[in-house]
Amino acid sequence: MTARKLDGVATAAAIRSELLPRIDAFKAAAGRVPALHILLVGDDPASQVYVRNKEKAGRDTGLTVVIHRLAATASRDEVLAQVRELNDDPGCDGILVQSPLPHALGKTVEQLVFDSIDPAKDVDCFHPENVGKLVQGRAVLAPCTPSGVIELLQRQQVPLAGQRAVVIGRSEIVGKPMALLLLQRDATVTVCHSKTADLAARAREADVLVAAIGRPAFVTRDFVKPGATVVDVGINPLKTREAVVSIFGAESARVTTFDTKGSAMVGDVHPEVAEVAGALTPVPGGVGPLTIAMLLRNTLVAAEARQGRP
Ligand code: NAD
Repeated sequence: MTARKLDGVATAAAIRSELLPRIDAFKAAAGRVPALHILLVGDDPASQVYVRNKEKAGRDTGLTVVIHRLAATASRDEVLAQVRELNDDPGCDGILVQSPLPHALGKTVEQLVFDSIDPAKDVDCFHPENVGKLVQGRAVLAPCTPSGVIELLQRQQVPLAGQRAVVIGRSEIVGKPMALLLLQRDATVTVCHSKTADLAARAREADVLVAAIGRPAFVTRDFVKPGATVVDVGINPLKTREAVVSIFGAESARVTTFDTKGSAMVGDVHPEVAEVAGALTPVPGGVGPLTIAMLLRNTLVAAEARQGRP
């Protein structure tokens, strides 16, 4: 079997084009376009790329995107002061603090900063008030990556009600909210993690398997029930040619990519899974573009809600 490709690029483009008339309507009513403000602290190279991609996608969709940069040496108070300023700015609809924050700020600072964001502008849905509403099934803003996965599955007619869903990973950002959103669509959900016994056997029970682990090509064919839908959330850079060859094979285009760019990417799912799964998200071009599309949608939803128009 060669799995059907669940195309995140096309689905993200469809979601973004659906935003256009709503952005126009907001502009006509409010006299401005919705504005996303991104706070980038430090100079982590991957974060720079992520922020650039979000900025470009936002502007291409007709939103205002403002980047606020703080040096890696910024203090916790400076970061919190910047968030407060954005909370108080009536022209700011969405606030995104790019994660990870520099290690020098300390372990607890990320939660502290997320907690300080006005819940009405919390387009990442990390604030405890928004997480609480998500748990209760009445979220206005849902976290971007898991809600993007749900959009993809629904638009690609993958059934969820009554199906067995297995999520590998229990992070606050992906695994936990993913499980909740699947549960709210009436899937029977199992959450697996680093301490799960007999992980491959649990995963093989899934009609819909979501991998959000952060380990290159971890999910091999023995994790997958034949015909299952597999969603690969992982984004893992491969740093050596040998690693690329061992996962993709010497003849793969991914090796050429590595030779040209000096890096290549792999998800949490091994490419051999395409021979077993019924449907599979590619990496790149799967969940990543959807995450950005949902961020833009959340910015619009936050702007509309702040204008009193649900
Ligand atoms: P995380 O490190 O916060 O969480 C990883 C989870 O995987 C943990 O809950 C852990 O229990 C589980 N895990 C780790 N090792 C395991 C093992 N050996 N067996 C079973 N479970 C194991 O990561 P995260 O933020 O949830 O991100 C996961 C992956 O998704 C990363 O590769 C990240 O880059 C990627 N990601 C992609 C997008 C996107 O837009 N495509 C968005 C967010 C995260």
